[in-house]
Amino acid sequence: MSFIISAQDHEEMKKLAALVRVMNTQGHNPATSGNYSLRSKTTPEIALVSESGIDKSKFTEENFIPVHYNDRRMVDSYALSGRKSSDETDIHLTIYQITKANCVLHSHMLDALLFADLFPGKQFATIKDLELLKGFKGIKTHELEINIPVFDNTQDIRELAETVKPSILSQPFSYGLLLRGHGIYVWGESVEEAKRHLEVFEYIFKYYLNSHSRKA
Ligand SMILES: [Zn+2]
Repeated sequence: MSFIISAQDHEEMKKLAALVRVMNTQGHNPATSGNYSLRSKTTPEIALVSESGIDKSKFTEENFIPVHYNDRRMVDSYALSGRKSSDETDIHLTIYQITKANCVLHSHMLDALLFADLFPGKQFATIKDLELLKGFKGIKTHELEINIPVFDNTQDIRELAETVKPSILSQPFSYGLLLRGHGIYVWGESVEEAKRHLEVFEYIFKYYLNSHSRKA
């Protein structure tokens, strides 16, 4: 199937590329790590996923690869050119298959790793009682618990992308997925919402890490 990037998608790609460059300055993407994607607004069965191996300080709207998220194949013209979407593309595709997300951000920020380490052996990292939880879509009070699914890291991303599905589906108000020793996936229904959710996670991780070190 051929695929032409629409003007509407191009605008979103520009917006996300600008965010990627900012996130790069904030420690989210050391050594070309991290990956990013959008659900196409005009061809909903296509995800636009960041290209593998790009230095995120130089990332632009040209560095997205269209991938069909049902059969997980890159659009032919891109595959034939030898370009490749991120090695972690399958996680992005799973999130689009089972949530309303239109944008997925994957960060290797150090605090996500340290925070996951506070919950050894647990399937979920629970956060609660913080005003900023209201930064997550649909949350109107600080008086609740949000369970973030946590998984062990693996190099078999295709298998992991299947394994995480029930946990994500079981937590409709959790917009993140933690991988131990690796990082976090965060999503939202727009670039702006995904960014806001990432900011909530960053703040809450700092809070838990600081309060834990005070108690230790
Ligand atoms: Zn990663």
